[in-house]
Amino acid sequence: MDYQAVLEEIYAEIQPELGRGKVADYIPALSKVDPQQFAFSIITEKGEAYHVGDAQKNFSIQSISKLFTFTLALDIYSKSLYERVGVEPSGTPFNSLVQLEYEHGKPRNPFINAGALVITDSLISHYQDDYKAFEKIIGFIRDIADDQSISFDPEVSTSEMENGYRNLSLAHLMKSFDNLDNDPRTVVQTYFKQCAMSMSTEKLSRAMLYLANGGTDPLTGKKYITPPQTRRINAVMLTCGHYDASGEFAFHVGLPGKSGVGGGIVAVVPGKMGISVWSPALNKYGNSHAGTLALQKFVEKSGLSIF
Ligand code: GLN
Repeated sequence: MDYQAVLEEIYAEIQPELGRGKVADYIPALSKVDPQQFAFSIITEKGEAYHVGDAQKNFSIQSISKLFTFTLALDIYSKSLYERVGVEPSGTPFNSLVQLEYEHGKPRNPFINAGALVITDSLISHYQDDYKAFEKIIGFIRDIADDQSISFDPEVSTSEMENGYRNLSLAHLMKSFDNLDNDPRTVVQTYFKQCAMSMSTEKLSRAMLYLANGGTDPLTGKKYITPPQTRRINAVMLTCGHYDASGEFAFHVGLPGKSGVGGGIVAVVPGKMGISVWSPALNKYGNSHAGTLALQKFVEKSGLSIF
């Protein structure tokens, strides 16, 4: 298939949709981002890469980082991780508090904020220090993207910390239920730093290859997790990766995918390729409006869906 031609077609068709929606202005540093931007990258397991738009422009990966910390924690804790966080879709927005109270401080899944906070807490405990844990998170992201220059944007994490009332509430609520080992503020701070990782669609699509290939990077041969663990991460991405719009994403796109409020989305075609798309204006669920549509078009044109 001529993937470059497919991407060019999508790029032309998506133009009228760019800027529709709203950038994540609840994080002041992200409210300044130009909503018209767009990029789409794919890379096959053989390393053939295709791009359109601003594919080298870095943006804030935000909740896409939850995928990477989930991988690290699953590798460390294996099944015992699920004693602290579930694998059911929540049907609620990513930063919702209500369900957490009803369910005694155990988050539904690792991709809503509460679940991601528990995962980050588990990494801080394992590495016995928040800085060390964050170094491991950055190191892992650099390895899977095969790019040692990747870093985070302290302006974004500081800006989020200054306005992080909801995430602090989630962390304190979980602490009250004994589902957080470390100081809530330290956990939230580390979580905001992982969210502030700066990457392009080119780097993110590359970072998805281990999930397309049973946990082993097909280009470097590095083994990160086992095939069963990879299947589980992909399953949770499919069922929970887009919060209360996960059903709709599975329905229209039909690929394991994870979104972030920076406007990025990553997706995987198991056995074939890593995908990443970016456009900062978000729909009402906090997922990229044009990005979601572009992925839908990609699946329609390429026939690459897991269904
Ligand atoms: N850092 C953001 C938050 O915690 C991440 C949310 C997201 O990308 N959906 O609110």
